[in-house]
Amino acid sequence: MKRTVAVASVKGNDIEQAVRDAVRLAGGLEGLISGTSRVLVKPNLWSPQRSGTGSITDSRVTEAVTRLVLEHGPHSVIIGEGCGAGYDGLGWSTEEAFTMSGTRDAAERLGVELRNLNTDTYEDVRIENALVMDSVRISRTALESDVIIGVPVLKSHKRTDITLSLKNMKGVIHGAEKRKTHRLGLDQAIVDLNSVVCPHFVVLDATVGMQGLWSYPEDCIPVGLILAGRHALSVDLAGADLMGVDPRRVMHLRYMAEREGMTPDLEGVNVVGQPIAEYRKEFKAGFQAFSERYPQVTIVSGESACTGCTSELVTALTYLDKAGYSLEMGELQVIIGDVETVPPASRVAVLGRCAAQHAHLGAFAEGCAPSEERVVRVLCEACGADVPRVLEVRDRVREEMWESSRKSLES
Ligand code: SF4
Repeated sequence: MKRTVAVASVKGNDIEQAVRDAVRLAGGLEGLISGTSRVLVKPNLWSPQRSGTGSITDSRVTEAVTRLVLEHGPHSVIIGEGCGAGYDGLGWSTEEAFTMSGTRDAAERLGVELRNLNTDTYEDVRIENALVMDSVRISRTALESDVIIGVPVLKSHKRTDITLSLKNMKGVIHGAEKRKTHRLGLDQAIVDLNSVVCPHFVVLDATVGMQGLWSYPEDCIPVGLILAGRHALSVDLAGADLMGVDPRRVMHLRYMAEREGMTPDLEGVNVVGQPIAEYRKEFKAGFQAFSERYPQVTIVSGESACTGCTSELVTALTYLDKAGYSLEMGELQVIIGDVETVPPASRVAVLGRCAAQHAHLGAFAEGCAPSEERVVRVLCEACGADVPRVLEVRDRVREEMWESSRKSLES
């Protein structure tokens, strides 16, 4: 059975109409929301930013979605979010994000509660058959909601290539735990999280998107669309396609598709409304932008290369750079994915099972994906860098990150 994803264009400046069109084309909210439903509307307000920048969900989209929800007479509606990166233990950034984005005003106009999920109460939830994260601390607001409406924004991401509805669910976990997902493997942790708390309906804000390293206004991309659908993975597959990103290269889409018995492409998706091809933009992937910071490193990547290996590479390069090995990274060639032929190079690192046939060419990190530490060690070996020194930098960076959120994690 194909899953429907609806695409509606924003005509003039009428965002609300586009939201209504997309939701209706996607089958509507009928049957999903009843008089007893407790509904959570979950935008992406990862940090205090203004609407219309493409960095966060535009408050006009959140407002239009919430108004539609209210028209179905639910028992209660909450607009909830917790800012990202785990630095927001006391919730100030989230409060600021509500205000700066215009979401606070929207909630007041609609008379619905705005809830800071970084200061919520939490429950530790076990995850059966987890890929990497066998338990996670989730906001009770999310757990107690009968219906979650995800309202993400169209963005690329430097570690996961894209951040759409599945990754947007990170906002419902405890602030400090968000960092845990990076340590464990972000793509896999996203799939684990969505196996216990996944949006029941998604309205994707593609009015304006954001690419690369999220610098405003350089990385902002106007698209003028709203996408909607009942199946979160399908909306993300269509969103990736709209961004010119091959969904098969996005590890969390691959794993999620495998879990749901789909292929990580649009084969199982019925796109209705506006044709995506007419609006498709080539979003610069975060990884691409990141690797441009290290022009001395050549990345040879095959078709199968995915965010599992590229995200570990991004992290490891950062540690080497911080440890003072930027020059030693010169002429480094990193092989990722099922590359057929490899040009000769003096310093070669080979990452992951897909590239194993080239293991003999240099330092090889086995695994799918290889662990962060293994990738650090392999890059050090290829560059002649001192492993303990780089690992010391890694530990210090991690410690600094954890220290800032330890108290809130323990509370
Ligand atoms: S080996 Fe690396 S590139 Fe290949 S599928 Fe695994 S994580 Fe992705």
